[in-house]
Amino acid sequence: MDDRTFRNAMGKFATGVTVITSSLDGQVRGMTANAFMSVSLNPKLILISVGEKAKMNSVIQQTGKFTVNILSDQQQDLSMLFAGQLKEERHVEFNWIDGHPILPDALANILCDVDTSYIAGDHTLYIGKVTDIYMKEGDPLLFFEGKYRNIASLSNGG
Ligand code: FAD
Ligand code: NAD
Repeated sequence: MDDRTFRNAMGKFATGVTVITSSLDGQVRGMTANAFMSVSLNPKLILISVGEKAKMNSVIQQTGKFTVNILSDQQQDLSMLFAGQLKEERHVEFNWIDGHPILPDALANILCDVDTSYIAGDHTLYIGKVTDIYMKEGDPLLFFEGKYRNIASLSNGG
């Protein structure tokens, strides 16, 4: 099976979009990720999957902390920025909670300590123990068939 067939099939699974944030020595790194899921209620665990080439790996491994920021439909530009899809560099303001850099205006900020990590093929799976959560009202940014969508465009047939 070729890679495109696999990606096309995975793209049929509609998801939200997150930006994973973490910081080392005061330097913040962000990375767009849709490989995110809730794992366990008791204890409260979530999972992210980070590609082996991502610089985010060394930051998470050294700090043992990360935050999952669930993006609103007003934050597509941040998704593109943290996926390396914008040509220009941008300054992003983060809020800080207990040493975690978080994205303001995200629908949810899920603060985690690394519980366990597993290498799975060309990605590393990080199970995060959730230590704190902040939420805001709004509609989500969506990703389906390799394209950004939002709830309004879907209900208008787009
Ligand atoms: P880099 O490529 O070094 O950084 C990404 C970009 O963020 C760069 O342009 C960098 O300048 C910018 N940036 C980083 N920190 C800051 C900062 N503090 N201020 C301003 N700009 C900053 N990959 C996965 O491994 N797992 C996934 O689940 C996943 N899901 C994705 C979902 C979508 C919808 C998209 C579009 C991409 C996804 N990717 C995923 C791909 C991933 O986002 C990119 O490969 C990413 O560029 C790799 O991150 P990196 O750590 O190597 O960071
Ligand atoms: P796409 O068609 O590549 O993505 C469709 C789906 O395929 C994604 O939602 C994801 O489930 C899966 N996928 C894509 N690349 C993958 C990878 N390297 N490993 C595991 N699963 C992967 O969409 P696109 O707009 O071409 O994506 C933009 C870029 O972001 C591409 O370079 C893509 O590889 C990367 N991306 C990576 C992941 C990931 O690593 N989990 C997820 C989404 C997008």
